Amino acid sequence: MNAKFAIVGSGPAGMYAADALLKSAPGCSVDVFEKYPAPYGLIRYGVAPDHYKTRNTSRQFARTFEENSVDFFGNVEIGKDISMAELREHYDSVILAMGAYNDRKLGINGENLNGVYGACAFVGWYNGHPEFRDLDPLLDKDGVAVIGIGNVALDVCRVLSKTRAEHDTSDICKHALDAIEASPLSTLHMFGRRGPIEAGFTPKELGEIRELEKCAAIVNASQLPNKVEGGFEGRTKGIKEKNLKILKELSDQNKPEKNVRMNLTFYASPIEILGTDRVEGIRLEKTDMVDGKAVATGNTFEISCGSVVTAIGYHTLPPEGVPLNGGTVANENGRVEPGVYVVGWAKRGPSGTIPTNGPDSRDVIELVIEDLETAGKPGGKEVDILLQKRGVRRVNFKEWQKISDMEYSRAQPPRPRERFTRVEEMLAILD
Ligand SMILES: Cc1cc2nc3c(=O)[nH]c(=O)nc-3n(C[C@H](O)[C@H](O)[C@H](O)COP(=O)(O)OP(=O)(O)OC[C@H]3O[C@@H](n4cnc5c(N)ncnc54)[C@H](O)[C@@H]3O)c2cc1C
Repeated sequence: MNAKFAIVGSGPAGMYAADALLKSAPGCSVDVFEKYPAPYGLIRYGVAPDHYKTRNTSRQFARTFEENSVDFFGNVEIGKDISMAELREHYDSVILAMGAYNDRKLGINGENLNGVYGACAFVGWYNGHPEFRDLDPLLDKDGVAVIGIGNVALDVCRVLSKTRAEHDTSDICKHALDAIEASPLSTLHMFGRRGPIEAGFTPKELGEIRELEKCAAIVNASQLPNKVEGGFEGRTKGIKEKNLKILKELSDQNKPEKNVRMNLTFYASPIEILGTDRVEGIRLEKTDMVDGKAVATGNTFEISCGSVVTAIGYHTLPPEGVPLNGGTVANENGRVEPGVYVVGWAKRGPSGTIPTNGPDSRDVIELVIEDLETAGKPGGKEVDILLQKRGVRRVNFKEWQKISDMEYSRAQPPRPRERFTRVEEMLAILD
């Protein structure tokens, strides 16, 4: 079958989809479009830099790009450099895999103050995401309040609390490491409007905060139930039991020798961010859990802090013309309309780990193949001509490898890699 497929987004969902297409439609060609010169989506720009090994998942995706029938169109944004309509003219099917990594707003007063950051921006800053390279977050005063009790909130607190030596094996960007080291930060807060059982952490990530060199995690024992209740079963129940065990361990420990504190506070919902020119504090309201929902109690308290990071959820931002359903692309089992499909976070919303995207993408590709009636669209060759006419500097996979090799070779040991954080820097290596 000589069908031509376009995938929008080179994160895990797009790459699992490319792999599934190669297996289900031998002879086809697959072009993967990516907004940035660097592929792999959140594997590069989301996963915490001290979880360096997790990034190795990208190796399997590099093998997919090495197949002759798969082509990387890096530095090409669909909706800006090429429209959805043009993509549909050139490909037999289009698979949207653009993720859902855009911050949701809290919707409270003070949210626009200097010093309030969404997790996408903040995580993007320490991971060298070109859009957030110059975020320069306010870390000049003590106290950062992170809103959210999932793995992303834990990542942010852990990265901020580590010493330079602890970051030796991580690929945190130099600008961020210098700023964190220079900061007087000694208090980190993590607030969740629900309780420890409802928290979205996984035991591995939660367990890591027991072992930090200069930071002690503080949990109030009175906020912990004796056991996991609420009808959880199987694997989910197991995860919650492990989390509770770790939280109990943390609540029992006393580590006065550590001068940084990471306070985990449950049942607290932010109602106002305080300050005039910049963040000076945050007001929260205590909550109770009623029928699985956090209900306000009217009982408020304030803490002082110099910045706030929100990690409360994300939504997709598709190219013009793609229908939305809340924070995701409107679809039925991955089918948006005949010839257009969606996979990954753009389809399901922001849930699941990298491997979760594998079976999801494979299921949708089965549908793509079932629906395919004719194949005869021109594909990438004509798209390349269009891009050249428009002066768009497409980055192909070999060129990306050149950029990537430079990132390794310029790193100061023992740090494994020093990323380029600006698109111009990356393109300058090539031209
Ligand atoms: C902060 C954070 C940390 C995480 N840490 C882990 C972890 O340690 N381990 C783990 O297993 N999972 C982790 N996850 C979850 C994991 O990253 C996701 O499951 C996965 O990345 C979702 O894949 P995706 O392909 O749907 O989206 P993404 O990874 O977001 O990929 C989407 C891609 O589409 C591109 N794109 C968007 N719009 C366009 C456009 N218009 N044109 C062209 N390209 C476009 C984007 O630039 C991006 O490269 C983490 C998630 C976050 C947010």
